[in-house]
Amino acid sequence: MIIENAHVVTVTGAEIAGGHVVVEDDRITAVGAGPAPSREGHRVVDARGGLLTPGFVNTHNHLYQWVTRGLAADHTLFEWLTTLYPVWAGIDEHAVHTGATGALAQLALTGCTTSSDHHYVFPREGGDVFAAEIRAAADVGLRFHPCRGSMDLGQKDGGLPPDHVVEDRDAIMAASEAAIDRWHDPSPGSMLQVALAPCSPFSVTGELMRESAQLARRRGVRLHTHLAETTDEDEFCRERFGSSPLEYVESLGWTGADVWFAHGIHFDDAAVKRIGATRTGVAHCPSSNARLGAGIARTRDLREAGARVGLGVDGAASNEAGSLLEEVRHAVLFARAVGGPTALTVRDALELATMGGARVLGREQEIGSIEVGKLADLALWALDGLGHADVADPVAALVLGSPPPLELLLVNGRPVVEHDRVTTVDTDAVAQECVRVHRTLLEKAS
Ligand SMILES: [Zn+2]
Repeated sequence: MIIENAHVVTVTGAEIAGGHVVVEDDRITAVGAGPAPSREGHRVVDARGGLLTPGFVNTHNHLYQWVTRGLAADHTLFEWLTTLYPVWAGIDEHAVHTGATGALAQLALTGCTTSSDHHYVFPREGGDVFAAEIRAAADVGLRFHPCRGSMDLGQKDGGLPPDHVVEDRDAIMAASEAAIDRWHDPSPGSMLQVALAPCSPFSVTGELMRESAQLARRRGVRLHTHLAETTDEDEFCRERFGSSPLEYVESLGWTGADVWFAHGIHFDDAAVKRIGATRTGVAHCPSSNARLGAGIARTRDLREAGARVGLGVDGAASNEAGSLLEEVRHAVLFARAVGGPTALTVRDALELATMGGARVLGREQEIGSIEVGKLADLALWALDGLGHADVADPVAALVLGSPPPLELLLVNGRPVVEHDRVTTVDTDAVAQECVRVHRTLLEKAS
C-alpha cells in the first residue's frame, strides 16, 4: 500500500507536508516527500487533506468494563469501586469477550493500534476470561498486551474488594505462569505479549507483589499495577506500611524499565525523581482521573525526570468515551489547566500517545513512530471537512479540534478501520450484545 499526499507526522523525525509512506506486508518500507518512487503492484491511497500519524498506544485499560458503563457516575474512586465490585463479580467469558470487543473497536476508531489491558477479576464460575479478551483483540485486529491481573487481599484481611472476588495466591501464581506459557509471544512483530499485574496496594498482599515481580523477571515479561491514584491510597499505605505508595512497592521490587504504573498522580518530588532515575513507566489517564476527581499526574515533571510516560483511557466504567484521541486532547488541556500554558505542547501530547506508549510497553524499537523498518501501525485522519479544513496547524487540528473522521487505520499493515468504520467486526451487532450483557450483569448483582 502507498499512502500519498498526507501531512506525515513521523514523531521521531521531521514532519513531511505532502509526503508518502509505503507499506509492504507488516512493515514500513519507505517514507519521504512528494509521491512514492514506484507505484507498481501497490494499492494507492490519496491522502490529500489528511494527517498521517503512528497508531496510538493505549497503556492502561480494563476492557470488560465496557459493559458496566455509567454506574456511580458522581462518586469517588473508593465509592465507585465498592458499587462496581458486585457487578464485576458476575462477569464470565461471554461478558468479557463482548465488552472487550466493544472497547477495542472504539479504541480502533479513535486511532489506537496497540492496546494493553489490565484484567484482575476472575470469578470462580466465569470460565477463561483471559482467553476471552485475547480472542476479542484477535477479532478486532489490534496488537495486544494483556496483563494477567490479580487480587488476594479481601475485606476480611483489611483490603477493599469483597472476599468472593479475590483469589488464592498460589492459584494466582500458577495461572500467571500458565498465561505466559500459553500466550506470550516475544518474537519480532509480536501481536500478543503478556504482563503480570497485581491490582493495587489496597487489593493485593505484599507477598503477591514480590512473587509476581520474581516470576516476571524470570520469564522476561513486564509488570503493571495501579499506583498513587488517590490520596485515600496514600493514607492507606502510610497507615498500613509506614511508607508512601512508591516506597512500599519499590521495597517489593517494583521499579525499573520493565515496570509501569497506572495513574501515578500523587507523587512528591522525591518520588518523581526516583521514577525517572529507574526509568519506570507511567500510564497517564487524564479523563478517568478527572471523572473520579483524583487529580492530574505531573506529566512534564515525570518526562523531564526520565520516566517513560504514555497515555491510557482506563476502564470505560470511569471513562465512558473510551477514546484514545480524547486522552491526547485532555492530556494537553488538563496539564495546562493545572501547570500553566507551557505545561504540555500538542506535539508532546502526540508523542505521549505514540512513542511514549511504545516505550512504556517496551516496543519502542518496533512501533510508535513512522520510520522505515518499523511495523505498519498507522492512522490516517481526514482533516478536510468543516471541523478542521482551515485550522492552520494540522497537529493542532487533530489534538485541539473535534475528533476528525479516521480515514484508515492499519495494524501490522492490515486495515482495521476504513472511512471511519471498523472493517473487522460488526459494531452495530456488538453494541446490541453489549446492551444485553450489561442488563444481565445488573440483574445478577441485584
Ligand atoms: Zn485502572
